[in-house]
Amino acid sequence: MGIFPGFFGRNKSGARENRFGLTPEAHLAAQREKTRVRDDAVPEPRGSSLVQPKALPPGTKVLGLRVDVDTHEGMRDGVPKLLEVLRSAEVKGTFYFAMGPDRSGLAVLNVFTRPGFLSKMLRSGAPKVYSTRTMLSGTLLPSRPVATAFPEIARRVDAEGHETGVHAWDHRRWQDSLLRFSEDKVILELERGFDAYVSIFSKKPLTYAAPAWFCCEESLLHQDKMSLAYASDCRGMDPFYPVIDGHALRTPQVPATLPTLDEALGLSHKTAPAFYGAMLEAVKAGEWPVLTIHAELEGGPFAADFAAFLAKANEQGILVLPLRDLLAARLAAGAPLPRCTMAYGQIEGRHGLVSLQMLEV
Ligand SMILES: [Zn+2]
Repeated sequence: MGIFPGFFGRNKSGARENRFGLTPEAHLAAQREKTRVRDDAVPEPRGSSLVQPKALPPGTKVLGLRVDVDTHEGMRDGVPKLLEVLRSAEVKGTFYFAMGPDRSGLAVLNVFTRPGFLSKMLRSGAPKVYSTRTMLSGTLLPSRPVATAFPEIARRVDAEGHETGVHAWDHRRWQDSLLRFSEDKVILELERGFDAYVSIFSKKPLTYAAPAWFCCEESLLHQDKMSLAYASDCRGMDPFYPVIDGHALRTPQVPATLPTLDEALGLSHKTAPAFYGAMLEAVKAGEWPVLTIHAELEGGPFAADFAAFLAKANEQGILVLPLRDLLAARLAAGAPLPRCTMAYGQIEGRHGLVSLQMLEV
């Protein structure tokens, strides 16, 4: 019997959806009403031997840095710029590359079908960040590949000591259509992304990040067969093992815990410096904070603001790390990782649903 089978269930027409349609708050309230899973119903996770616990000096403040590369131009222009920024700050992060076609143009179509999408685009300065070419890519103009178009840039990221991982084959299709994908399609998308990674790096990827922090039961289960060190598929509080149908998976999740710049701009914060100032405070207050940046933003018009953030983080003794190192530090911190359910919910400033870390069981 599933613990919360409804959250990734199928409706009558066979499409996968969040059948309860609950907000995160309602989920928590509803689950607290239910009987907690018996301890013996959830096997001990096997754990990942691919990340060895590694303690940091006591009192070290850390920040996991995740870099998403979503578009052809972000790969071509944003990644080299970010490498420069990270090199001068002497900081390493985890880069997740979309591998296949850049269909960013499909996002523009959301203006017509999704209420609120246009205001989000304008508020976060999308026309300034994305070129006309990118905004028509995959619709009026042919889509261009993301990482597979620039294997030498991807390999440079690896050579400079950053961690690298897969951010889907077709980022836009995944984020727009995942709930309509068949199980086979989910597996195919994952395998294509992983094959493309192997073709670039001549080694297996050890980590995956679902586009738009949006995953499903099938993607989590298939990733669990792929011997990943961990995945970063959701928003949440701290590293954990996902629980599906009463079983804890063995691939830990390292969730993004902090908002992104595009979620904040024009909504919670007027300017990028104001946002990054608030992030410094949030990092100091959090235990295992993870910040996601985008090659298109922090490697584009906001590169100087991000460089200033890294300089201040350094001054304040914050150690910025790839997610693998954050997980290693967490594993060394003593208590085993919690086992948590996941559900779909909404995040302020972001359009549509994302996957969320929910209750510890
Ligand atoms: Zn992305």
